[in-house]
Amino acid sequence: MTREDQFKSKSKNKNKYKNLSCPNCKSEQIIKRGFRLTQNRGRIQRYSCDDCDYRFVKDDGFYRMRNSPQKITLCLDLFFRGISTRKIQEHLQAFYPKNASWVSVYYWVIRYSKIISKFTDNLKLKVGKEVQVDEIEYHRRKHPRKGLGIDKNWFIDSIDTTTRFIVTSGYEKSRERENLKRILKNIKNKTENQVKIITTDGLTAYTNIVKKTFGYNNKERKYTIKHKVVNASQGEGFNHPIERLHNSVRHRTKTFRGFHGSVESAKAIMKGIEIYYNFITKHQAINYCPYELAIPQLKGKLGNNKWLNLIRLAKRILD
Ligand SMILES: [Zn+2]
Repeated sequence: MTREDQFKSKSKNKNKYKNLSCPNCKSEQIIKRGFRLTQNRGRIQRYSCDDCDYRFVKDDGFYRMRNSPQKITLCLDLFFRGISTRKIQEHLQAFYPKNASWVSVYYWVIRYSKIISKFTDNLKLKVGKEVQVDEIEYHRRKHPRKGLGIDKNWFIDSIDTTTRFIVTSGYEKSRERENLKRILKNIKNKTENQVKIITTDGLTAYTNIVKKTFGYNNKERKYTIKHKVVNASQGEGFNHPIERLHNSVRHRTKTFRGFHGSVESAKAIMKGIEIYYNFITKHQAINYCPYELAIPQLKGKLGNNKWLNLIRLAKRILD
């Protein structure tokens, strides 16, 4: 190793500590101090604060989990590819007989969908000219047991027709104005000035919200967006990216026969489906994962186990 290399690796080491601070006193004077031996995750680097002597380990998303990151992300992958939690339990009983309950799998799906979406929901996107917005109606059983009431909810999503990236998606209690407004604002924030056409169904609430959100250009004396309305009652359809997306979302949610339980869980599972669609699976029409086009800076950085690396990115520990 030349001196220059030594210097480089030294300063690289320093950088690694940059976003680490003491959980006890917030000091950034952190030093490495030995390892913590865990049963399921091997040796884990332990750190210590130079100021208050507090010792800690970095939470890579798997802190205090009793299962390996490989096993957990394998289950996420199976689940979002359409395998039911019961079937995954059978798979685990054959290959990882310890901790093989479908309840854990369900818990991981919720937990990691939330963790990853905190990261992916805030990414800026490179998109084309047109974004399509649409809704799917869901009937959610308010309680896992039957007969305790049904709630009508909506999955409201939007897709960029060029990259096929799901720009926004959310499982919502209703289609009321406030929800639609928030969703359109979100589309605007993530795509900035790239979108020229917003396509929606005939829901009248959209008319004002689309124009108001995207604004009026005083200089050119026109709205900065074209609002295209698809009139389903006259037999028109989106015929296109968003319809295909909805077919696959419906297909996936059919295998667990709808949602039973809290809105929170339904929200998290739908986020997981969005992540799967945007980051994990290749889109057949474009032969890419949508993120490779919409977030080019991430291309090639997610490795083979994309679930694992998305969790690490969300926890800010990927170099
Ligand atoms: Zn400290």
